[in-house]
Amino acid sequence: MPEAEAALAVAALSHPGQKRERNEDAYGYQLTPYGGVFVVADGMGGHAHGDRAARMAVDTIVEHLIERDPSPALLADAMEEANRRIYQAARSGRAEGMGTTATALVVDFPYALIAHVGDSRAYLLRNGLLVQLTQDHSWVADRVREGLLRPEDARGHRWKNVITNALGTFPEVEVDLLGLKLKPGDLLLLSTDGLHGVLGEEAIARVLTGEPNLEQAVGRLVELANAWGGPDNITTLAVRADRVPEGGEKPYALLLSSDQPVYIRARSGETELVLPKRPPKYRLSEIVLLLLWLGLLAYVLLNQRG
Ligand code: CA
Repeated sequence: MPEAEAALAVAALSHPGQKRERNEDAYGYQLTPYGGVFVVADGMGGHAHGDRAARMAVDTIVEHLIERDPSPALLADAMEEANRRIYQAARSGRAEGMGTTATALVVDFPYALIAHVGDSRAYLLRNGLLVQLTQDHSWVADRVREGLLRPEDARGHRWKNVITNALGTFPEVEVDLLGLKLKPGDLLLLSTDGLHGVLGEEAIARVLTGEPNLEQAVGRLVELANAWGGPDNITTLAVRADRVPEGGEKPYALLLSSDQPVYIRARSGETELVLPKRPPKYRLSEIVLLLLWLGLLAYVLLNQRG
């Protein structure tokens, strides 16, 4: 086995959940000499069209990337090709409305590239801290970004399932692209909203940090999402870089020279370049309160002595 493949641990699972008859999610992956290609997709359209769209997306993206030297441009190309194929299949096969989300990860050591459409997600677990790498293309996420909706109100919102960008529903698609330089131990998690719509980041992080066996961890995540009601199809795929081989020269390396995940291309109107860092342990208001308390305590003590 080439060094790149041996450096990766992978586990994935898809489950229909407790409320849906069909599973319209799909996932797929292929290890390659440079690392691997990994995709999750969450189809929609009903009457078997959702499954078909999700499967087409996964197969097209994997197929497009395994034969060639990967790059952000090739990854975007793969997403656009999947969009074209699903869109045409929908129009010619009386499956209007067929579409899918897709979150695709390419490990091209020492880099990870991620392309994304819809409300499936990619997370990075590094040094025990879980960060969401992708931004949902959904009505509620757009309102949160505009400051019109609080993040804590988004999860239970009645319009939480309304996505604003998908593969196969329009002739053109807007693909978000980001990348990062991997560190040994980095774990990338792809998921559909049947997982992250039910389990918060803390719960996901706790499972991933508490269970070093990836298959067990993925199984536990799906079990928890089902235990919490399993309202939707649940799919998750975890990839861990146990080592980070140097890899050859990459034409896109300059884009990703920072230590942090970087947006290479985001949907129009979004200008963020660097994703969230470790949040501060204490908020300023908490520090001010603490100082006030200490001041009061000192005042009381000094008065008692005097
Ligand atoms: Ca879903």
